[in-house]
Parts: sequence; C-alpha cells; structure tokens
Amino acid sequence: MPIATVNPFTGQTEQEFEAHDDAEVERRIAATHAAYTELRATTFAQRAEWMRAAAQLLEDDVEMLGRMITIEMGRPIAGARAEILKCAKGLRFYADHAEEFLAPEQLADPSSVGASAAGTRYSPIGVVLAVMPWNYPFWQVLRFAGPALMAGNTGLLKHASNVPQAALYLDTLFERAGFPVGAFHSLLIPASRVEKVLRDPRVKATTLTGSEPAGRSLAAIAGSEVKHVVLELGGSDPFVVMPSADIERAASVAVTARNQNNGQSCIAAKRFIVHTDVYDEFLRLFAEKVTALTVGDPLDEGTDVGPVATESGRDELEGQVADAVAKGATAVVGGYVPDRDGWFYQPTVLTGVTPEMRLHLEEAFGPVATVYRVADREEALRIANGTTFGLSSSVWTQDADEEDWFIRNMDAGAVFINGMTASYPELPFGGVKDSGVGRELAAAGIREFCNLQTVWKA
Ligand code: NAP
Repeated sequence: MPIATVNPFTGQTEQEFEAHDDAEVERRIAATHAAYTELRATTFAQRAEWMRAAAQLLEDDVEMLGRMITIEMGRPIAGARAEILKCAKGLRFYADHAEEFLAPEQLADPSSVGASAAGTRYSPIGVVLAVMPWNYPFWQVLRFAGPALMAGNTGLLKHASNVPQAALYLDTLFERAGFPVGAFHSLLIPASRVEKVLRDPRVKATTLTGSEPAGRSLAAIAGSEVKHVVLELGGSDPFVVMPSADIERAASVAVTARNQNNGQSCIAAKRFIVHTDVYDEFLRLFAEKVTALTVGDPLDEGTDVGPVATESGRDELEGQVADAVAKGATAVVGGYVPDRDGWFYQPTVLTGVTPEMRLHLEEAFGPVATVYRVADREEALRIANGTTFGLSSSVWTQDADEEDWFIRNMDAGAVFINGMTASYPELPFGGVKDSGVGRELAAAGIREFCNLQTVWKA
C-alpha cells in the first residue's frame, strides 16, 4: 500500500510520501532509545507539564486537525474535531493521574515475608513500538502515547499508510510540547518493515490496534523475541434489546452506535439482537432513522455518514452484503453502493441473517447493521456470544435481574447497560477472545508498559 493521503470522498490522491529509508529508521530508533534515558530521569510533575502543553497544542490546532482527519479518512467534520478534543482530555487525564496510578505499594505486614519492608513499584521499560490504524487516527495513537510517556517510556509509531499527515503531525507533537527530542517518533514505513523494528533489541514492547491477522502476526514476532504485547483488534459487538427497554431511545442510540465514524469503529454495535415482543417496533424505528441519515460530503457540517475510508474496505462491505442477500437475507434499508464518486456504501439494515452467511461471523467495518429476532434472553446471549470476537456489548433492559444476568454472562471486555459503548480515559478498554489481549486507558492502560518491580528489604 502506498504511503499517501487519498481522499475517500473523491477517490483522488492528494499527496504521496516517501517511506523512510533504513538509515532514517535507524536514526529514529536511536533517538527514541537515547531519549528514554533522559525521560525516565524526569519527574511526574515535569512530564505532566509537557503533557498538558501537548493537550493545548491539539486544542489550538483543532480546526486544522479536524480537516486533516476528514480528508485523510472521511470522518464527518464534527466528529473529527471532537476526536481531537477527546485526545486533549485524555492527555490531561494522564497528566493528572499517572503518578497516583503508578504509586509504590507496601505490604502492611512485611514480617509475613521475612522482611522489614516489602512491596512493589512501577518503572518504565524503554522504547515501545505502536502499530496503529486509520479509523481514529489521533485517538488510537494518543491513548497509547499519553500513558506511555507519562510512565517514562518513549514511543515509536508505525501509523496506517493512509494517514501519513496524521503520522507526521504526531511525530513532532511531543517535542513541540517540551518533551526531550526523540521521546516520540513516527516511522513512515509499510507493514512489511515492522518486523525488523520489533526485533531490534532497543525496542522493548509493542502494541497493535487493528485487524486480527495483523495482530496475530505482530504477536508471533513479539512472542519469539519475548517482548510484551498489547492487542486491540476487531469486534462484532452485540446490541441486545429486551422487552422492558425504552425502544424509542434504544433505536435512536442504535443508529449512532452503528453509523458513527461511517460505521468504522471497533466498538460499534454491529449485531442488533432483539426480543420478539419488541422486534417489529424496534426494526420499524431503526429502519426509519437509518433511512433519515444524511449521506454526503464529510466536510459538510450536516453530514451524518461519509464514505468508507478505503476502496478495498468499501468493496469488502459490498461483498459481505451481496453474500448475505444471495443466501436469503433481506436488505430492509440500503444494501447497495450509491451511484456517486468516492467510496460510499449506503447505510444498510439487514434481516434474516443465518450462520452460513459471512456477516454472521465476520466484522462489518462500515454502515451495515444486522438485526436478529430472538425468543428469550438465553437465545439473545447465545447469539451475542456466538462469535470469535469479544470486544464490547450493549444491553437494553429496565429489569434489574436481567441486567445482572447479562453482565455476568456476556463474553466481552465491556458491558454497557442502556447506552452505547464508548471509550473514556477513566475506564479500561480492551477485549477478550480474538478481540485482543491487555488493556488500554485508566490505571490498567498505563501499567501495561511498566515493570512491576518487587522490592524486599531484610
Ligand atoms: P490493519 O490492516 O490491521 O492495519 C492496522 C495497522 O497495522 C496499520 O498500521 C497497518 O499498516 C498495520 N499492519 C497491517 N498488517 C500488518 C502486519 N502483518 N504486521 C505489522 N503491521 C501490520 O487494520 P485496518 O483494517 O486498517 O483497521 C481496521 C481494524 O482495526 C478493524 O478490524 C477494527 O475493528 C480494528 N480496530 C480495533 C480497535 C480496538 O481498539 N480494538 C480500534 C480500532 C480499530 P498499513 O496501513 O501500512 O497496512
């Protein structure tokens, strides 16, 4: 894949970038390695000051960065701006809380281990390589970089090849904010050159947000090098609607949960599992609201759904829907590529999806929803858990017993009750099964790339 900005609204290449050659990659790894010695010697207070300055730079640049996101990957402009402001909030969160999350702990009774004092402390581990996707080109990177740098680690970013302008902005963000030169660097390289970087002894750990095959490949390399890995992979999140739910509200939120960011969110609700008693009402409302979405230029303030980010992503979606329809599914809404420039896919609602269809098990990475009718909560749970993914889930019910039952039985990294899944700096984020390993955000996220050191004193 070329390293280039290709506007998904027009399909036109706006700018191409030369990949870094081996000498430049070496220079950047060396700089990031050298900066680690400097950064780990600084205090939390110093790093927090720089982190707040980075947040301020993002806020100052919000208009320019919002446009950059929209042009590089097609996210409607209001959401693109909101992503930048969320990043600033996330960086400030770690500026405020890193020291508390990494505070040393002491055993209350050290004599139980024959010591005068014993406990744990967290220390940084060095250079961490982050391989990141294009779908939230700033948030995905900064929710890694904020905690990593606050812990005293330094970072190397291999960003997705279709968001090079975001990669280049992030390359200098932390340096501009006051961090030591080299504390964070982007590598403009194709995926095929990640392995060599990861095997470099100066790189101590890695994280990948992206597809399951990419995650498996990176984890295999990390495993062979005995390097820690965090994976945030795909999802096919269930959205369960039970009879006691507020159906009008569930249907409205369902539309946003499926179609925000043009349907390209790992934690988007993708499979809508609806109790038979409220199925017809939910489907009618959901279909009406999806039909009412404004599809168009993502730079227009009124646009709800823009194009899919890449031509191959749009083609993949088209293939998944065609397979389902050929095998008997019904497109209640959409189900086609609209006749216009750019990589649009019409927001779609499918019913009658059965296990032999690709969409029953595969992730739909675009504005395509599948709606299932179920007889009871057991069937709802069976379908909800019946995928290889386990990222998040959403359950709509006013029945306390049912709520508790779903929370206890859902095989997912998160359960949101009467609301759509979202990520918050305050809450851990991550999946089970093929959705990944490890956690980002909150205290868990900053601890992933630390050495939890046991200290025992006679
Ligand atoms: P992708 O193809 O896996 O790309 C993600 C990143 O990995 C890119 O930087 C890509 O580089 C790189 N990459 C691809 N194959 C690689 C390999 N074999 N070795 C090393 N690096 C490799 O993912 P995508 O299709 O762009 O993104 C969509 C996927 O990401 C969806 O499945 C979505 O659910 C998932 N996602 C998950 C989360 C989460 O937090 N769980 C968040 C967002 C997205 P190139 O661009 O150069 O190929």
